[in-house]
Amino acid sequence: MRASPIAPTVDFSAEGVQHGFLRLPYSRDDSAWGSVMIPVTVVKNGEGPTALLTGGNHGDEYEGPIALFDLARTLKAEDVTGRVIIVPAMNYPAFLAGTRTSPIDKGNMNRSFPGAPDGTVTAKIADYFQRTLLPLADIVLDFHSGGKTLDFLPFCAAHILPDKTQEAKAFDLVSAFGAPWSMKMLEIDAVGMYDTAAEEMGKVFVTTELGGGGTATARSAGIAKRGVANVLKAAGILKGTVEAAETTWLDMPDGDCFSFAEDGGLIEPLYDLGDEVEAGAVVARIYPVGRTGAPPLEVKAKMDGILAARHFPGLVKPGDCVSVLAAVVAG
Ligand SMILES: [Zn+2]
Repeated sequence: MRASPIAPTVDFSAEGVQHGFLRLPYSRDDSAWGSVMIPVTVVKNGEGPTALLTGGNHGDEYEGPIALFDLARTLKAEDVTGRVIIVPAMNYPAFLAGTRTSPIDKGNMNRSFPGAPDGTVTAKIADYFQRTLLPLADIVLDFHSGGKTLDFLPFCAAHILPDKTQEAKAFDLVSAFGAPWSMKMLEIDAVGMYDTAAEEMGKVFVTTELGGGGTATARSAGIAKRGVANVLKAAGILKGTVEAAETTWLDMPDGDCFSFAEDGGLIEPLYDLGDEVEAGAVVARIYPVGRTGAPPLEVKAKMDGILAARHFPGLVKPGDCVSVLAAVVAG
């Protein structure tokens, strides 16, 4: 396969703190020999594990970029053993546009792996992570939130994996992260995900969903900042002890946790995030908006659980995810 067109302005093997860019040539109308300049920070101090920290995989999710721009400006080499690679806004064109996908090619970064060196801008960024950055990493933390269309209980998550040693290491880091909720996560659509790419390479991968609605709150940003420091401490990369926090473990047992809209309209939520819901309960009503007098469609829960995520905008379209339930894990 051909080489990546991305040229980093940092040296990943050099000691100390470096702030630079992953420079991706992008020839276009307003810049014939222009580039996409993706900010990157590398902090290295001696031998030790490497953590790869990413936010902005989706461009409208903000806790990760907040925590990682902050960490990049404050992390000192003497506090690190090993290496930390920080990319606060992985899909940088999407991040600048405030959209989930790239305005250049509509690429959804988290459905673009393994990417291609001769593909779209999004595919080229994915390929660089696949073939250059992921192989450098021992642990990978990728921040997500709900973006403009979903809202989540704040949780850190890892996946059930065939390799139980790898899975246990990931759940240990989820525990260390110390979000109010911790999730054993099921994906609707795992093909092409960064998560899957990292896990198939044997990396210890953890992710988050820390809120949503296309913004961050003081609380959710604080959870992200404390969480990333805790993960680095638990991995032995950052000096200091993990700041312990209460967490409740949740499980997404199967596809029954998701409910989707079968019609569009005006959505009335009947439960809020964190509420307990029983199987068969009406989670939300969807009112047809073409005329008055028509009954609303009722969206029902298919399992007992707590409401872990919900559709955010007030209007819903057919096929939208209305709610996600999760089961509290005993113990
Ligand atoms: Zn996301």
